[in-house]
Amino acid sequence: MNNNSYFRSAVEAMAGYVPGEQPKMANLIKLNTNENPYPPSPKVAEVLQSFDYEHLRRYPSPRADDLCETAARLYGFKRDEVIAGNGSDDILTMAFRCFTAPDRPLACLMPTYSLYFSLAEIQAAPVMPIRLNSGDFSLPADLLDRAKGANLLIITRPNAPTGNTFCHRAMTEICGRFNGVVLFDEAYADFADDNCLDLAREFDNVIVSRTLSKSYSLAGLRLGLAMGSRRLIEGMYKVKDSYNVDMLTQFIGQAALQDQAYLRQNVAKIRATRTRLTAELARLGFDVVPSSTNFVFAAPPDRDGGRFFKMLREQAILVRYFSGETTGAYVRISVGAEADVDRLLKVTELYLQMRK
Ligand SMILES: *Cc1c(COP(=O)(O)O)cnc(C)c1O
Repeated sequence: MNNNSYFRSAVEAMAGYVPGEQPKMANLIKLNTNENPYPPSPKVAEVLQSFDYEHLRRYPSPRADDLCETAARLYGFKRDEVIAGNGSDDILTMAFRCFTAPDRPLACLMPTYSLYFSLAEIQAAPVMPIRLNSGDFSLPADLLDRAKGANLLIITRPNAPTGNTFCHRAMTEICGRFNGVVLFDEAYADFADDNCLDLAREFDNVIVSRTLSKSYSLAGLRLGLAMGSRRLIEGMYKVKDSYNVDMLTQFIGQAALQDQAYLRQNVAKIRATRTRLTAELARLGFDVVPSSTNFVFAAPPDRDGGRFFKMLREQAILVRYFSGETTGAYVRISVGAEADVDRLLKVTELYLQMRK
C-alpha cells in the first residue's frame, strides 16, 4: 500500500457540487430550486400514454435527431448547429471538456451558478471570477480586460442567483472582442424579454445553452440543448456520452418544444406572479433585484438573509440561501403558485412585525 490517493489530484482536492435540497417533508412549500409550479404541456402526457414500452429494447438515436431537428427549426438554426444533453448540466460538462484545461482558463461571473466552479475543478482549469458590481449586480465595465487569457467565458443571462439580465448591446460587443468561446447560459431566457440566440447565429465563437427544466416544467426529465456554429457543436459531439439523451426524453422533449402556446401561457402566469411578489416584497422594505427569471433575489430590511431563511424554514417554506459577503444579505425565492406566494408574504409580514 502506498499513501498516494487513487484519485487525480484535482478530484482529490475538490468538494463536489451541492444541489439544492429535495426534502421529503409533507406540506412543504418548496421555492428553493426554481422548479415550475405548473405541470408540463398536456402533449407530454399524450406521449407518455401512447408510448409503446417495447421500443425500449432499442438504443435511442445517439444524436437525438428528430428532437434536434425540431429545436433547430424552433430557434432558427441548422440541424448541425444543435446538440442535446442530459439536462443543460450535461451541455455544460461537454463545453468544459472541450474548452477548459490547466492551460485554458474559465472566466465566469461572481456570484453565479456554482456548478461552473466544480466543472472547472474536474478539468483542473483555473477560474477567473468576474465580480459583478455591488448593489445592482450589473456587469463591470472592464469585463473584457478581466476575462483576458480565458478560453471559455460563461455569461449566465439572466444571471442566477441574482435574477437580473445584462444589456444585449454589451453582449454583442463582448462576442466580437473576446478571444475565446462565449457561452450564454440561458436557463432562464424564456422568462426574460430577450435572448442571445441571434449572437450564436452571427458569431462563430458563441454557444447558447437552454434547458427544459424551468420554463417547460421538466426538471425531472433531464433535457438541455445547445445552439452554436457548426464547428463548435461538432466538437461537442466528440466528447458527449454516446447515448446521453434517452429515448423517452427525446420523444417527450420534442412534444414539449412543439407546444409553444402552452409555454407562452405558463411563462405569462409566472411573470405575473413575479411582478406581484417583487412589488409586495418591496412594499415590505425588501431590497429586490429586478428579475428576468422565475425567481427573485431579495434582501430583508435588516439584510440578514440567513436569519430570514431559517425563519421561513421553520414555517415549512424552503427558499435558497447563499452565505457569503455579497449574497448573504439575500435569499433566492422561486416564483411558485399564487397560493404559495400568498403564504410566503403572510409569514414574512408577521416576521417583520415581530421584529419591530
Ligand atoms: C437550472 C440551471 C441549469 C441546469 O439545468 P438542467 O437542465 O436542469 O441541468 C443550468 N444553468 C443554470 C444557470 C441553472 O439555473
